[in-house]
Amino acid sequence: MNLIEEMEEYAKVNHVPIMEKEGISFMLNFIQTHDCRRILEIGSAIGYSAIRMALVNENIQVETIERDEERYQQAVINIEKAGLTKQIHIQHADALEANVEGQYDLIFIDAAKAQYIRFFERYEPQLKTGGYILSDNLGFHGMVDGIVEPKSRATRALVRKIKNYIEYLKTNEKYETVFYSVGDGVAVSKKR
Ligand code: SAM
Repeated sequence: MNLIEEMEEYAKVNHVPIMEKEGISFMLNFIQTHDCRRILEIGSAIGYSAIRMALVNENIQVETIERDEERYQQAVINIEKAGLTKQIHIQHADALEANVEGQYDLIFIDAAKAQYIRFFERYEPQLKTGGYILSDNLGFHGMVDGIVEPKSRATRALVRKIKNYIEYLKTNEKYETVFYSVGDGVAVSKKR
């Protein structure tokens, strides 16, 4: 088993939500074709997507933020095992309070869904003009489109928040957003 497979297995056994196969290949392809070099990720979990992104090519630098202590520690181990400490910098922090430096070509939002608008607004000033924000999980396992019924009131509230975020993206005139039904639903917003 290689490291990528090991991480996929770890995520499955320990119920860590990592990007779905279809979503990740869409994103890696996007990074390659748009030559995104400076990437900011909100929500590292165990470092799976950060590692996959850094492996696209050696010019890529990833800054990634994770607030959960155990996942952060696991991510640090995985980044070291992958030999990618020069390409990936991970912060153990709440992304709503963290600070990052510089300007990015791509911001990947993959953290607490209820906070997507706040993540977007906090970090979008650090996106270059012509850069992209990728948001994952906008389908929320079929619940946003009403294919699957939310089972609890809390889940229903989350579905509402995701719908608000989708509306926010659609009406944000500083960005042009395209929605893709790959993986669990991905939005690509380009800064005008
Ligand atoms: N991007 C990862 C991947 O595909 O390998 C998966 C990330 S997982 C879907 C979301 C992660 O975001 C969780 O590990 C969670 O602890 C973290 N998270 C949620 N809210 C956060 C916040 N406010 N700041 C930092 N991390 C947060």
